[in-house]
Amino acid sequence: MNKHLWRKIILVIIFILNIFLIRKDVFLDAYVELNGSDFVDIDVFSKYNDEGSKIFFDGKEIKENLYELNIDSNVNNKIVGTYKVIYKYNFRGKEYVKERTINVVDKESPTIKVANDVVYKYNNDYSKIYFTSKDNYDGDLTKKVSVNYLDNEVILSVSDSSNNEVRVSLPIEEVEVEPLILKLNGSPIYYIETNGTYNEKGVSVFDGDRELKNYDVSVDNQVDLTKEGTYEIKYTVDNHGVKTNIFRIINVYKKLDVPVREKSTSGEKIVYLTFDDGPCAYTEDFLKILDEYNVKATFFVTDQFNGKYLDIIKKEYDKGHRIAVHTNTHKYSIYASPEDYVNDFNTMNEKIENLIGEKTNLFRFPGGSSNTISRSYINGIMKYLANLMEAKGYVYFDWNVDSTDGAGSGTEKIINNVLNGVRKNNESVVLMHDIHKTTLNALPTILSTLKSEGYEFRVLDENSITAHHGINN
Ligand SMILES: [Zn+2]
Repeated sequence: MNKHLWRKIILVIIFILNIFLIRKDVFLDAYVELNGSDFVDIDVFSKYNDEGSKIFFDGKEIKENLYELNIDSNVNNKIVGTYKVIYKYNFRGKEYVKERTINVVDKESPTIKVANDVVYKYNNDYSKIYFTSKDNYDGDLTKKVSVNYLDNEVILSVSDSSNNEVRVSLPIEEVEVEPLILKLNGSPIYYIETNGTYNEKGVSVFDGDRELKNYDVSVDNQVDLTKEGTYEIKYTVDNHGVKTNIFRIINVYKKLDVPVREKSTSGEKIVYLTFDDGPCAYTEDFLKILDEYNVKATFFVTDQFNGKYLDIIKKEYDKGHRIAVHTNTHKYSIYASPEDYVNDFNTMNEKIENLIGEKTNLFRFPGGSSNTISRSYINGIMKYLANLMEAKGYVYFDWNVDSTDGAGSGTEKIINNVLNGVRKNNESVVLMHDIHKTTLNALPTILSTLKSEGYEFRVLDENSITAHHGINN
């Protein structure tokens, strides 16, 4: 065989082998491998650290200067979701792509903070539970918390948008509920003229002895002040389903017509002495002194000593003094109702009639028409009674000179009060009481002095000045 032919064959084989080895990329591909996992979960808000990737060719990692790498990533660690990181290699004019999937997840449960240790169960409701709920991702979840009342516990629970749930349990403790106590502020009963005004004073709420300020009270007021009638105002408080009521009675009345009385032409230096609250053990001594000075007075009589001195009324009358009603009992409880007052008045007037043969139409309210003590019984009763009694034809008197003997003044002071008071008026209605020794002792000086100063003493009648104070209740 030709030696040259062999050599040529060998050279051709070497040449073909060389071409194959040098240009093997024509036949082989590179490949990309991710460092770490293809699927990565990270907690929301935590940093994402990409572990990178490598490209291999023919079993060997390709050197950095031999390829181009672009990484495309849309990972947002602040928003829960699924993201991609895309690695794009360019190696010898060819593109190699590999992806990694990143799940940004929220695995942290919300929290519920409760201010209570225990929930109290009352009659039909529960004590309020104060709580807040927060989540690392969703923020404030307080409004989404569900509260479930079970037999022995209350479960508060909430889930965040990634369905992470939290549950808090509070024990239930049963509490026995006592009804609250209501007390009316102001009078339990009102008398109001039609088209008058009613001022709501409300009620006070007590839990036992303890007053509960600003407790919610519902008030049912159907009073029609334009229409006569008896109305109730209903006050209700609710203590966990146990209700307490209290009522106030409002009497709306029409003012009655009152006969017009002509006043006697006012004179000067006229004194009407009036003696209240007797007769009593001193009264006959009063009569003696009045006789000595030939002075007539008006006695506003009572039977507060239960018949013991009642006969003296006849003596007063026979001596020319004027008899008028003060009160049978002289107890302020007569202002507890118009009926109580009128019964007391009529009882006294009947006793007077039995003694002297006639009733009187003159009277004086215990405490005067301006008294406010009656307000603790009925709001508005003095105004109501004054109108009622005047409409029936009675005339009531107050006073414009107060001896202050009823307030415990001594003889000297009584004398000064009467003399100074009388000197200021043309006509004086003088308040005195024949139940005080001090007044008895003051009387001679009062009478002698006023007589010497030219005063005329008269008894009250239907046309005398009434010296009304003005009604305060
Ligand atoms: Zn009196």
